[in-house]
Amino acid sequence: MVIVPPATIGILGGGQLGRMTALAARSLGFGVQVLDPDPDCAARPVVDRVIAASFDDADAATELARTSQVVTLEIEHIGAAALEAAQQHAPVRPGPAVLHVVQDRARQKHWLASQGLPVGPYAVIDSAAALGEATRRLGPVLFVKACEGGYDGRGQVRMAPGDDPAVAFSAIGSRRAVAEQGLSLAMELSVLVARRASGETRVYPLSVNHHERQVLAWSFTPGDLSPEVTNEAERIALHIADALKLEGIMAVELFLLHDGRLLVNELAPRPHNSFHATELACPTSQFEQLVRAVCDLPLGAVAPVRPAAIVNLFGDLWLGAAPPRFERALSVDGTRLFLYGKGGARAGRKMGHIAAIGGTAQQALERAQRAASLL
Ligand code: ATP
Ligand code: MG
Repeated sequence: MVIVPPATIGILGGGQLGRMTALAARSLGFGVQVLDPDPDCAARPVVDRVIAASFDDADAATELARTSQVVTLEIEHIGAAALEAAQQHAPVRPGPAVLHVVQDRARQKHWLASQGLPVGPYAVIDSAAALGEATRRLGPVLFVKACEGGYDGRGQVRMAPGDDPAVAFSAIGSRRAVAEQGLSLAMELSVLVARRASGETRVYPLSVNHHERQVLAWSFTPGDLSPEVTNEAERIALHIADALKLEGIMAVELFLLHDGRLLVNELAPRPHNSFHATELACPTSQFEQLVRAVCDLPLGAVAPVRPAAIVNLFGDLWLGAAPPRFERALSVDGTRLFLYGKGGARAGRKMGHIAAIGGTAQQALERAQRAASLL
């Protein structure tokens, strides 16, 4: 059943992804409310209501769902009981089954492998001794990632040859974790698939991503990859969306190896930092597409009308003696500034991004980087 404006959409999470989803929903004429632990979250100024509660609070999730026609999310770390409670009152899209697969890194990896999808060598470990064993089997370089709760490189460590497994295990909080073989990457890519409740799907063109200190620094779309890589990415994305009967959008982070093989790094069943450039590159941004998908509305066009790039702005920029010089960045033609309205700047915290269009993706990236450097 289609959900049309002026219905209200409930979003679990009111960070920047919730904020930008809310803005897209607003443009379409929907009402929006969010649930977030922080009453002053990034989405607050652009939504009708913030329910301030933890992501495990079943009563608060019930309240969100009871007063919304559909519930979606911008963060995957939502308690199972809260999801189930919400589901009693409004469809939760993507649903608890999708979240169950994604929320735990080990379960996600096993699921991907069980689907015959390509993943790198890994082991699930729950002790320093098991990590030592994994180091001997998969090393010398390993990425150790806690099964639950990590993002932007948090809850994970890169182990270099000779590093002590006991130190690494305690650095991730002595928790159950996935130990992955450190791969030599030719490139990092991502693909985004949208699937509406009644089954229609669309796949966005590839984004090319660059990470620094395990966090996304910049991204552009469309990536100019070989037809083999492009088709394989699309095949993987559609397989995942159909196998999970996805209702919403799913970003698939991919590693391209030097031999041309594509591996799935991880899944994100929500808007993704590496598709912020769709706001400028595509007729339908990832945020509008999420709204359409969860409301079972016809999906929007995804073929890029021009290349675009984004550069993330981190809190470090705000910590200097003078505030960032936004007017200088905006003097670069073809750029747009997106600030998330976050109060407290901290080193490494995502505060906003600069997006740019260009004749080529490379030109778009150079513009966005030039604008960011002027801040
Ligand atoms: P984010 O929230 O930014 O996606 P995350 O905390 O979920 O980050 P991952 O996506 O697992 O973490 O890893 C972050 C980055 O670390 C990757 O994009 C990649 O640059 C690097 N990385 C992770 N695992 C590996 C690996 N097995 N081999 C090589 N590089 C890796
Ligand atoms: Mg990642």
